[in-house]
Formats: sequence, structure tokens, C-alpha cells
Amino acid sequence: AKAAGRNTYHFFKPIFADQASERLELELALREAMERQELSLYYQPKVAASDHGFLGFEALLRWNRGELGFVPPDRFVPVAEDCGLIGQIGSWVLAEACGQIARWYRAGYGWRKVAINVSARQLVHDDLVGMIGRECERQGISPTLLEVEVTESCVMSNPSQTSPILAALRAMGVSVAIDDFGTGHSSLSYLRRLPVDVIKIDRSFVHEAARDTGAEAIVKTIVNLSKTLGMDVVAEGVETLEQAEMLARMECDVLQGYCFAQPMPVDEIERRWRESDAT
Ligand code: C2E
Ligand code: CA
Ligand code: CA
Ligand code: CA
Repeated sequence: AKAAGRNTYHFFKPIFADQASERLELELALREAMERQELSLYYQPKVAASDHGFLGFEALLRWNRGELGFVPPDRFVPVAEDCGLIGQIGSWVLAEACGQIARWYRAGYGWRKVAINVSARQLVHDDLVGMIGRECERQGISPTLLEVEVTESCVMSNPSQTSPILAALRAMGVSVAIDDFGTGHSSLSYLRRLPVDVIKIDRSFVHEAARDTGAEAIVKTIVNLSKTLGMDVVAEGVETLEQAEMLARMECDVLQGYCFAQPMPVDEIERRWRESDAT
């Protein structure tokens, strides 16, 4: 089959011939993406369940390849993790988010809390604590304005390694959120000992909870447990008012999802603020 493939080379577009070459193509393009300034951060608001006011933002990476369009992070972040580029990209995300917090403050929008997503590799192999400390100092912002989101599976893959790092982040004032909660393998008794401030309920449970009593019970349990342990709880992927109302009834205090706002570029968020000020 390989020989035939070589002979017919000119009749095919080889780039996406198979998954391996698609990954390779992405890797090569990603190496140039940073210099070409093709990466940016979008921000999605986290809102109060009570009045839907903006409480803070999650920064989400976007890669705009021009004519080729946007590559979804679910496709390129795993490639960046595998080929070792995630460290460089993660440092850029951190610097950009801290810079944005400072810019919003200087522009008169007040101090806005921003959460960044951190990969397992960054958490374990990079000096994240030192990097965050230096970046906050450089931008003149308090580390308490920064939140770090790590997935449940990342934390639980090796809790004795990840827990001290999370504890050190918290000690400097950074809040720690467990992302995609419910999809990993936390034992509930272990959760009690994890140094975390926020639990983010995975959107798969949020979606199913409105029509499935099993999923509804899971969401209710996570909300109650988080509160008992003194953690904040955020529901992600809230798409409908029905879901928002159900979550508010369960006393889940913070919501995030298309129901309120999509992830947006900076100028769009600022436009929203100006509009709400003008009324
Ligand atoms: P995540 O951290 O779980 O982020 C939430 C994802 O859900 C985002 O997808 C967001 O756009 C999407 N979302 C928000 N509201 C809704 C909703 O109401 N319904 C649905 N169906 N989806 C919603 P996005 O931006 O495509 O990011 C996907 C994943 O890529 C993230 O999942 C995160 O794991 C990763 N990622 C994004 N930015 C970064 C980054 O800067 N660093 C790292 N390491 N990973 C990142
Ligand atoms: Ca996240
Ligand atoms: Ca998530
Ligand atoms: Ca995810």
C-alpha cells in the first residue's frame, strides 16, 4: 500500500492523508504560529447564578491560521503537549493573561479575575510557581487575580506529585480550580485533602442533568460536597435557561456557558462593558 501511495503521490493531497501526517503538519505550523502571532486569547465570562453579572473570565487559546481558519484547541493542544511546545505556549498564555489583567485595570475596567488552563506537563515540569510569581510582579498585579484550571485527571494521575504544587500556588494567592470534574477518578474522600479552591462541574453532567435524574443527582452531590468542603462550585457548558435555573435551585453559585456568553476577543468584551455602562 505504501509503494502504491508513493506512485500516486501527485494525485493526492498528501497533507491530511492520515492522522499521523495531520499531526506532523500541525506541529510544524504550530512552531511558526507563535512568531507569526497567530495565537490569541479569547475570554469567556463566569457569571453569578443570582443576577448573571460577570464575576471573572476564563482565558481560552485560539489559533487563527488565516486562510485555513481557526484550529480548535482540542486539536492542537494535545499536539503541543506531545511535541514539547506546550511549555512555550503556556508561558505565552500566562504572560498574555497577566498583561490583560493589568491593561483592563489601567483602562478603568477595575480588577478582573482571569483563569488560565494549565496542562499536566506545565504543572509538573515547568516551574509554574516561579513563573507566575515573576509574571505577576512584572505586570504589577496581585497573584490573587489569577486562577489556574487543571483537569481532574491531571491532578489525580499522581496526587502526591501534583498536590504540593497546587498548595504552593495557593500559598502565593493564586486560586486553583479542578476542571472537568466528574470525568476523572477522584475518590470523594481524596477530594477533601486536595488543595483546591474551586470545582468546575464538567459540561457533560450539566447537559444531561436537565433530562436525566441520575445526572441531576450527580450534579447535586458535587454542589453539596464542594460547599461542605468550603470550595466554590462552577457549572460549565450552561447552554439553556432551563439548565441555569436548575443549577440556581441547586445553589450552584457560578455559571459559565453559551447561555450567557461565548468566549470573546478582548475588544468584544470591552464593547459589552461600555454598553452596560451606558444604560
Ligand atoms: P476546557 O478548559 O474544559 O474549556 C471549556 C470549553 O468549553 C471551551 O472550548 C469553551 O469554548 C467551551 N464552552 C464554553 N461554553 C460552552 C457551552 O455552553 N457549551 C459547549 N458545548 N461548550 C462550551 P475550547 O475553547 O474549544 O477549548 C477546549 C479545551 O482546550 C479546553 O477545555 C482546554 O482543555 C483546552 N485549552 C484551551 N485553552 C487552553 C490553554 O490556554 N492552555 C491549555 N493547556 N489548554 C487549553
Ligand atoms: Ca478550563
Ligand atoms: Ca472544562
Ligand atoms: Ca476539557
